[in-house]
Amino acid sequence: MIGRSRAARHRNPAPLIYSAAMPLIVQKYGGTSVKDADRISSVARRVVETRKAGNDVVVVASAMGDTTDELITLATQVSSHPGGREMDMLLTAGERISMALLAMAIGDLGVEAASLTGSQAGILTDSTHGEAKITAIRGDRVRQYLDEGLVVIVAGFQGVDPESRDVTTLGRGGSDATAVALTAALGGDVCEIYTDVDGVFTADPRLVGTARKLDEVSYEDMLELAGAGARILMARSVEFARRFGIPLHVRSSFHDRAGTWIKEDAMEQTVITAVAHDTSEAKVTVHGVPDQPGIAAKLFGALAAEDVDVDMIVQNVSTEGHTDISFTIPQAHMDKAKSATEQVIPELEAEGVDVDPTIAKVSLVGAGMRNHPGVAADMFRVLSDHGINISMISTSAIRISCVIDSDRCDEAVRALHDYYLPAEAAS
Ligand code: ASP
Ligand code: MG
Repeated sequence: MIGRSRAARHRNPAPLIYSAAMPLIVQKYGGTSVKDADRISSVARRVVETRKAGNDVVVVASAMGDTTDELITLATQVSSHPGGREMDMLLTAGERISMALLAMAIGDLGVEAASLTGSQAGILTDSTHGEAKITAIRGDRVRQYLDEGLVVIVAGFQGVDPESRDVTTLGRGGSDATAVALTAALGGDVCEIYTDVDGVFTADPRLVGTARKLDEVSYEDMLELAGAGARILMARSVEFARRFGIPLHVRSSFHDRAGTWIKEDAMEQTVITAVAHDTSEAKVTVHGVPDQPGIAAKLFGALAAEDVDVDMIVQNVSTEGHTDISFTIPQAHMDKAKSATEQVIPELEAEGVDVDPTIAKVSLVGAGMRNHPGVAADMFRVLSDHGINISMISTSAIRISCVIDSDRCDEAVRALHDYYLPAEAAS
């Protein structure tokens, strides 16, 4: 298939629905997979192999290595409040670099490739700079290039607001969202997410020596895992994959072995699929709040107005008409959460607020727990056997999360993994 030149394609125009002719694979490469020239060449070889195996290939590239972090640091060095339009202009440059280099490297291997920015690829978003949501994908140029036999490289993590015509970014890790949304829009067969780990594990293998790679995980479990702090996939991209029934294959770009398939009907062998942890949140406590209707609405209304992401919320039992309200937020939102809360404190007639970043959230996730009562009780007992104090608890039908001191996090994760996913249970 690869031998067809652009001219030959024009003599024999491609069918309107090109995807019927050839499977379409979307491959997303994360920052570590394209971190230097060697890695880019190795990604180029994989792309070319996939193309030569008879597939149409669309590649979504992340920025090289830590480029995005470095650009953010630079911005904070020249401005006290970088953000909005210019920040997105800056950050989208990262993906432009990697996509162009990748297209050149692929070209050198004798396969025609073209790179497109998010805007050129027709990825339309709302106007929320830094956290934009994809509203539509036009994709005409992507389709056109595919029809002409090219490999198409699309810059991850970015789009354009059609009203203002400004470029936008989709939030950290947003290249996953680009890849999944493009797969849906183009009618792709599979979306491969290439990373520096072998797949999704039963716990972070850096913490738990006996953690093992999962062959399959359901969308449902993966969504909860992403929300519980597993950094492997952006939660929004999993939601999208589920909505459009797109199978995701999370795998390493450093070898050819299969990774983890994320799909609807994954096999569940155990009650708990994985133990996740998250040390990126902080706990905010508002003290001495009058126990009256409307207080929580005011407090969380003020936080929502500042776009603070609130995760867990706990309100204590009231004593003498007053109570404490605690909630968790991303550490990155600490400043705006604190100022938003301080502003409503006089109105709430509360005593004060404090913010504690030394917390960790440990979670058990698994659809299997639906049919197994008592998981929560067991989890609390395992933590108590280790003398680990729980300061907040939240649950969904398939997840139990506890907030504990961050310095006990590693121990808690190991203990819970040993209890629920002991090494001998490995097949
Ligand atoms: N480069 C962006 C980030 O580091 C987007 C991505 O890698 O998915 O967040
Ligand atoms: Mg990155």
